[in-house]
Parts: sequence; C-alpha cells; structure tokens
Amino acid sequence: MFDLKGRVAIVTGGNGGIGLGMARGLASAGARVVVAARNAEKSRAAVDEPAGLGAAEPLAIEVDVADESSVASMAGEAAERCGRIDVLVNNAGISIRGGQPQDYSLADWHRVLDTNLTSGFLCARAVHPVFKRVGGGKIINIGSMFSIFGNSTVAAYGASKGGLVQLTKSLAVAWARDNVQVNAVLPGWVDTDLTRAGRHHYPDLNDRVLRRTPAGRWGNIDDFAGIAVFLASGASDFITGAVITVDGGYSVQG
Ligand code: NAP
Repeated sequence: MFDLKGRVAIVTGGNGGIGLGMARGLASAGARVVVAARNAEKSRAAVDEPAGLGAAEPLAIEVDVADESSVASMAGEAAERCGRIDVLVNNAGISIRGGQPQDYSLADWHRVLDTNLTSGFLCARAVHPVFKRVGGGKIINIGSMFSIFGNSTVAAYGASKGGLVQLTKSLAVAWARDNVQVNAVLPGWVDTDLTRAGRHHYPDLNDRVLRRTPAGRWGNIDDFAGIAVFLASGASDFITGAVITVDGGYSVQG
C-alpha cells in the first residue's frame, strides 16, 4: 500500500529542511527522488548522502521555482531523464521579515508570493501533462500554521500559505477525474535553517513554541517522512483537497 518502487517524486527545496525529510521518506519507500532547488552544491550533497535518498538513482536539478521557464525546463528534464513523474512536493519556500505590513516593501511581497504560492501553480501546471500520460499523480503542497493563523509580522508569508491551501482545493477539484490527488500539509514549528534564523531574530520564540506546542518539542525533519509517503502512495488514493496538520498539536491547543 505504501510501496513507491518505480515512482518518480520531485521535491522542490528537497536539499534541506522539511523537503529533505520528505525526500528521505519517499526514497525509503522506493521512489526515485528528484531534488529540485537553486543551490546545486547543496542539492548534490543531499543526493550523495550515504543511503539517504535510496538506491533508486536520486538526481538533482537546478530550478528557481519562482521562474516560469526554469520550472518548465526542470519538469521537462525530470520527465526526460526519469521517463515519468508521479509525485510533486511543492515545498520550496522563504520568509522575508519586514516588520509590520505598513513597512513591507512591494518587492519583498512579490518575492514571497512568487516563491511560496505562484511556484505551486507553476510546478503543478508543468507536471500535469506528465501525470495525464502516466495515468495519475500526487501533489503535496507545504503550507504553514500561518495558512490558518495571523500574525502582524507575516502578512506576505501568511497570504502565500493561505493561498496555497486554496490552490490545493481548486487543483484537487479540477484534476480529480485525472486521478491526481492534491493535498496540503501544514507543519507546526520545525527545527530548520528557516526557523533558526527566526529564533535568532526573536529570542523568545523558542520558549513560545515549546509552551504552545502540546507535544512539548519542536518538530524535526524526520517527522515529515511518514506523511510524505502516505500522501504519495496508493494508501491515500481517495484523499484529495485535504489539509493535514503535522504540528505536535499546535493548532488544536485552546
Ligand atoms: P529551509 O530549510 O530554508 O528550506 C527551504 C528550501 O527551499 C531550501 O531547500 C531552498 O533551497 C528552497 N528554495 C527556496 N527558494 C527557492 C526557489 N526560488 N527555487 C527553488 N528552491 C527554493 O526551510 P524549511 O523550514 O525546511 O521550509 C520548507 C517549507 O516548509 C517552506 O515552504 C516553509 O515555508 C515551510 N514551513 C516551514 C516551517 C518550519 O517551522 N520550518 C513551518 C511551516 C512551514 P535553495 O536555497 O537551494 O534553493
């Protein structure tokens, strides 16, 4: 039910953090993983990890997910080199701290929206013809607690992650008859480069996260291996348009 042998999975931003945790999970279930990110050296290191991304010849492709032509060539190269694409994890994302919304620049707004939201549309659109050719596919979009909650310092990030949830639902409806399932995963607070920078900037963040998270700990990247395998495999074939929190209970704490 969870076997991914013979499947090809693209993970954007799969060279570190949550993306790498998901890539490792997919590889452990047998998938051939395509690590798609900008930093070629970091991607090469992820692909070369001893036993990390499995025996099924993982490969790295350079892409800027915010750029339409870069995304089109990435999907084309993946399909050509692997012969098929079965899974797309839209994980690449950034946060640009700019203080309160009234102080936020339009350039930063566009960069965050392009990287976190438009990228999801571009990558999904680029793989859809391949999904149709192979008879179906799986898309996993990575949202955030800020897909649900607001905060005065994350207007652009929250808008991008809220938008990604709505994109998930529309794609799920549009492509259900193509046997394409599209779901969103909303991580809680996870220890990665992204949040390390946040902890540096907001010294009380660590305590606030530990207090508010019922599990009493930060997530780690291995916490995302299982949900990736579940949503990429036949085990989730009747699940589409779902929004699944992986947050140690953060979002249900009253
Ligand atoms: P991370 O370690 O900083 O990873 C982000 C990844 O995205 C990197 O691998 C980066 O690779 C890639 N990336 C960024 N911009 C890109 C672009 N334009 N084109 C291609 N790749 C790009 O952060 P993370 O915490 O694992 O975050 C992964 C996802 O989870 C993000 O969408 C983030 O918003 C979301 N998330 C994280 C948390 C958390 O607590 N950590 C919570 C909720 C949601 P390159 O630099 O090589 O391109």
